[in-house]
Amino acid sequence: MLIIPEITMPEFEKGLEATKTIILPFGSTEEHGPHLPLGTDTLQMYEIAKLAAKKRPLFVGPPVFYGLCRSTKEHPGTISISGKTLHSLVLDLLSSYYDQGLRNFLLFSGHAGGTHLAFILDAAEEFLEKQKEAKVAVASILELLEMAAKDLLETPKDSHAGEFETSIMLHFYPQLVKGSAKEEYPHFPKPFLVRNKRKFWPGGVWGDPQKASAQKGKGFAEKIAELIVKIADEIESFKEDT
Ligand SMILES: [Zn+2]
Repeated sequence: MLIIPEITMPEFEKGLEATKTIILPFGSTEEHGPHLPLGTDTLQMYEIAKLAAKKRPLFVGPPVFYGLCRSTKEHPGTISISGKTLHSLVLDLLSSYYDQGLRNFLLFSGHAGGTHLAFILDAAEEFLEKQKEAKVAVASILELLEMAAKDLLETPKDSHAGEFETSIMLHFYPQLVKGSAKEEYPHFPKPFLVRNKRKFWPGGVWGDPQKASAQKGKGFAEKIAELIVKIADEIESFKEDT
């Protein structure tokens, strides 16, 4: 398997003969309710990426444990970076992997915040303009879930530390799941921005962790990994003008 932190220089070089496609897993260090670890977004995306890489030749980059967290910024344990830093980081990583011979880039983020994704997208667009041979796909884990396994999810608006993420963590890291939490949704006074975000979202859960199970997590992970394999196949033959 072409898991970049685990392979050698010759393995990297040989891997390029098999594929020029890489998943760059993005995540966050962010509160995930009282029951899930702060690294949930990163760990889940990295594990699913590695699962996909078992199914076909596919490089997996080291996961990025930091992202831009807006609505959980005041919750204890959330460590956020700025959009500017994220933009530069994405651009630098894409450029360096491109220089190393990679051409097809799957930027998948376990953290699905809208502002976070917008900065990744913006950097990816900039890179796409600059490198004419490059092909890029960007998606959050929730978009991948929506495409791959929406029927397995019982909670309609589940998104953060709820049924989906708790299930995924119960499957991959049961030892890191500390019980469960109550069903909760934020009630921000839209369209106003607020400083004390925790007041409007005390528990930091968005969805229903009570509906989670390890078995569901296995199902979600398998289906998303299969979708990633399909996207990796597609990006290699993808042409804009056909
Ligand atoms: Zn999350």
